[in-house]
Amino acid sequence: AKITLLAGGVGGAKAAEGLNASRYRDGLSIIGNIGDDQAFHGLWVSPDIDTLTYSLGDRINREQGWGLAGDTCQVLNGLQQLGVDTWMQLGDLDFATHIYRTERRQRGERPQQIAEDIAVANGVNVSLILPTDDVVATRLRTQDGWLSFQDYFVRLRCAPDVLEVEYHNAEQAKANPEALAALTQADLIIIAPSNPILSIGAILAIDDLRTQLKARTVPAIAISPLIGGQAVKGPAEKIMTSLGMRADALGIAHYYQGLIDTLVIDSCDQHLQADIEALGIQVHVTNIWMKTPQDKERLMSEVAELALQTT
Ligand code: GDP
Ligand code: CA
Repeated sequence: AKITLLAGGVGGAKAAEGLNASRYRDGLSIIGNIGDDQAFHGLWVSPDIDTLTYSLGDRINREQGWGLAGDTCQVLNGLQQLGVDTWMQLGDLDFATHIYRTERRQRGERPQQIAEDIAVANGVNVSLILPTDDVVATRLRTQDGWLSFQDYFVRLRCAPDVLEVEYHNAEQAKANPEALAALTQADLIIIAPSNPILSIGAILAIDDLRTQLKARTVPAIAISPLIGGQAVKGPAEKIMTSLGMRADALGIAHYYQGLIDTLVIDSCDQHLQADIEALGIQVHVTNIWMKTPQDKERLMSEVAELALQTT
């Protein structure tokens, strides 16, 4: 069976690793998020794509959930000594990825091809797809005006209240044919338990991708990133609240209404089942906190089997 996963960074990578370890790995395609991309020190950094790549290649720093295992930060130290702002954490080995990516982009090569080649070089053997080759930048409006994603997320540690989110250039961006094909050819589309607004929202801001997801004839299932109204990691519930949304699995269901058939929620959120079903979304209740490799494989196999009705 062919499964296409929409994925952000850390939550996306957990779902991707679970599917990659399951018997569904052969037909697996992953559409990642490029809304967090930003230039640092003249280099193009693509944090969510790198998190997927390093996770699937088993090179990720497991404690942090991003960056490369065993990496050092001499380059950053050197830059700091030169008086450069170094709040964006970039490891020495990690810099190699950014240098390589930037050089090829400057030669005019397709970002999709570059991402594929970096994935292969890292030992990834599932298809990693960018939603678009164009630049789409997630930006957040706070009391102090508009911020770039990394300014908000890393420099300010998600402290300011988010009043508005925009996906800059999404209307002009052209969906990659690989992304459209992954959606049209899938037997099942899964939305990872990623930040709905910052990660999945940035992918679906590209009109042709959202339209294709809506037009599908196969099941689409999302896994809630919120458990008991809280994110496992990151600002999801904080942002949903400041944007005036309900910050729990029901709020997630509202956000994905019209895009999914089923929402997978945690056992502790079972009391929300009837309200979610009233939105026309089926509910599957299970343990959705993925702490170990076994948790990832178990949950993702369960989700796939639920839709594909095979055992
Ligand atoms: P980011 O780009 O690194 O911020 O990562 P994502 O957008 O892919 O994922 C962030 C979301 O993943 C957060 O809202 C977390 O609540 C969610 N998340 C992380 N780990 C888990 C998990 O084990 N289970 C579930 N259900 N959600 C998780
Ligand atoms: Ca991210």
